[in-house]
Amino acid sequence: MEQGETRIKIAIQKSGRLTSDSLDLLRACGLELDGQKQTLYTPCRNFPLDLLALRDDDIPQYVHDGVADLGIVGENTVLEKGLRVERVLDLGFGVCRLMICLPQHSEVRTLRDLDGRRLATTYPMITSRFLEAEGIGCEVVRLSGAVEIAPMLDIADAICDLVSTGTTARLNGLYPAFTVLTSQARLIANENVLSDPAKRQLFDRLMIRIQGSLEARGRRYLMMNAPCDAVDELRSIIPALKSPTVVPLAEEGMVAVHSVIAEDAFWDVMEKLKGVGASDIVVVPIEAIIR
Ligand code: ATP
Ligand code: ZN
Repeated sequence: MEQGETRIKIAIQKSGRLTSDSLDLLRACGLELDGQKQTLYTPCRNFPLDLLALRDDDIPQYVHDGVADLGIVGENTVLEKGLRVERVLDLGFGVCRLMICLPQHSEVRTLRDLDGRRLATTYPMITSRFLEAEGIGCEVVRLSGAVEIAPMLDIADAICDLVSTGTTARLNGLYPAFTVLTSQARLIANENVLSDPAKRQLFDRLMIRIQGSLEARGRRYLMMNAPCDAVDELRSIIPALKSPTVVPLAEEGMVAVHSVIAEDAFWDVMEKLKGVGASDIVVVPIEAIIR
């Protein structure tokens, strides 16, 4: 590492639901990060970036204070902490919902019925704000974990917790009833990073990579050979094939057609492509799409 070289620090969750997707995203951007999972600090070998591995709850504070320049953390955590940080980009993973869950035999039917009752949560800020906006006078009991047992212990009549499939709630005799927030992992930045020219330059370079790899997600590169006169039909089969690359082949009357296609769409149309004369169909993964 050169002396005085500007580097950018990015905080990700050390160990939890966001860890592997966060690392995958950074690696998909070509960053070599081969530190041990246990280490707090990993310098990247081929880009002026250092990785900080933290508890997810601490990430907004570190980014707010500038200890980390960037962070990857759930929107739920960012909103709960209520600290000013730049919202850069939603990343499409770590999708979950913060939901009010009720005991199976609760008398509560509508949100309004929560009026005058007690609700336990590890998200008191978001929950209180939501209830206030709905005009519901509900006592919010702040817990630091294991909220799903609060109704059983008679500490609360309902809980507000993160849900993805609802299985945990059901295992505890609860069911998800009302959505307070839909969340996903978000890239956040310290406000000053964007105005510091040296950091900004690194940030911009990193963003091109991140956006390039997000663009590529769920997409494949499709190549096939087809008779020239089948090109119009191919285009009607694949909507994204509006302006495919069409290259003549050595064989008279035949062309190669190349295009980007959504991964799920490919399997649906593959037979139709063959049906209009396409052959030698090849589908390959895409690393990045830089616009
Ligand atoms: P840490 O030890 O870092 O504090 P944690 O136990 O608080 O970890 P995780 O359970 O790993 O956190 O969840 C991290 C984030 O993953 C959540 O804040 C949320 O944004 C997201 N997430 C996605 N699906 C779920 C889910 N089903 N339950 C909880 N969090 C989820
Ligand atoms: Zn946490």
